[in-house]
Amino acid sequence: MKKEVLMLSGGLDSAAAWWALGKPPWLFVTKANRKEVESKELRAVLSMMAYCQEFAERGRIVDCDFSPFRSQNHSVFPREFLLACIAVAEGFNTIYFIWHTNDSDPERREQVVKDITRLLRENYLDQSLTVLMPFKDFSREELVRKALEAGCPKEFLLVTWSCQSGGDLHCGYCDNCVERWIALRNNGIDATYQFMNNPEDGLLQRGIRDLRTHPEFLTEYRKVKNIPEGEIILI
Ligand SMILES: [Zn+2]
Repeated sequence: MKKEVLMLSGGLDSAAAWWALGKPPWLFVTKANRKEVESKELRAVLSMMAYCQEFAERGRIVDCDFSPFRSQNHSVFPREFLLACIAVAEGFNTIYFIWHTNDSDPERREQVVKDITRLLRENYLDQSLTVLMPFKDFSREELVRKALEAGCPKEFLLVTWSCQSGGDLHCGYCDNCVERWIALRNNGIDATYQFMNNPEDGLLQRGIRDLRTHPEFLTEYRKVKNIPEGEIILI
């Protein structure tokens, strides 16, 4: 029998995915991220739980300290594999990671998902264990749109945490902040007040390399600067 679970991060994407997937059970693993960011993510999950009773009833917060793995200076830190193992230990066999087309290196992530599925099946001798990326063909903006169409209130999305800098407010400059701002804004949600610095400035200060590696940055940059599609950008 399929026992599905969404791996929640406290960020915008997995919160939106919970609605878009029809409110499946979720797991949030504490201490699985960098310390200063982790507390913001936990606070976001608790805010989502306070905001939506049904969400609170569907999920579980699991405490598992990943820091020993980091401090050993491993060349590869298998965070997603450990998260999947926790999901299996909690009794789930179909595990959703919320990666999408705006993630850096989506093809590599697809390979990671295949590798984790193979490793889980070999280690637990259970062919039902599967890791999936249900939104691998969606952009972050499309994912947020799906959630809103499924009835997600914008307030639920606004209490999520995206910034990697770990300050009191979203910094407005890091990739995650600019991505958050674009995905919300293009769905009619103004989140500008959540940022310490205007994300539009963060976007405009991006170099050509960032614009190439982040397709949504490039599209948005053209819009803000009024540069038609096909015309070369000079920075
Ligand atoms: Zn930030």
